[in-house]
Amino acid sequence: MRSIDEQGYHFEEWLTPKQIAADVQQVANKISADYKDKEPLFVVVLNGAFMYVADLMRALSDIRCEVTFIRVSSYYGMASTGQLEFIVPLQQVVDQRDVIIVEDIVDTGLTIHQLKAYMRAHGASSVRVTSLLFKPNKLEYDDAKPDYVGHEISDEFVIGCGLDFDGFHRNLDAIYKVKESK
Ligand code: 5GP
Repeated sequence: MRSIDEQGYHFEEWLTPKQIAADVQQVANKISADYKDKEPLFVVVLNGAFMYVADLMRALSDIRCEVTFIRVSSYYGMASTGQLEFIVPLQQVVDQRDVIIVEDIVDTGLTIHQLKAYMRAHGASSVRVTSLLFKPNKLEYDDAKPDYVGHEISDEFVIGCGLDFDGFHRNLDAIYKVKESK
């Protein structure tokens, strides 16, 4: 089994590239069926979702869609006001669009909770979410439960396939789970 050691933490391979490809394919099949008569706008949350969306788009070549990218920073203290800072702003008009937000992982759900409120406030006809990984035990915002999930995970830290540790390891072709600290 492949493993990575970083800053005193030991990570072991958990989802192989083959398993991730199967997860992406099952998500793509559901989205294809649900959006076959629509023209969804995929709003990709950078940086983490870049690898997931590349795989997802290749598996979704049968639908007509658009893809755009944003980068946001959520503020816990201001969660109730729905404040969201756009570091890379949304460049597409979402009014009357069927939006699908693409995330790497949904944890507390704060980011998605705020993004959904933003999309609705800006006139989106519908807003759904797809996430490569989902931590259901950590979810604090009911409306942030992703509609299309690659894989559920318990409350463990993971890296790879877009997910970083201090900016590194996004390029790993598998998902690695932290096992122990030295
Ligand atoms: P949320 O707003 O749902 O609490 O946080 C989601 C964000 O937290 C993800 O987009 C990701 O950046 C980060 N995150 C949550 N869990 C993990 C994890 O296990 N590994 C990594 N690398 N990032 C995580």
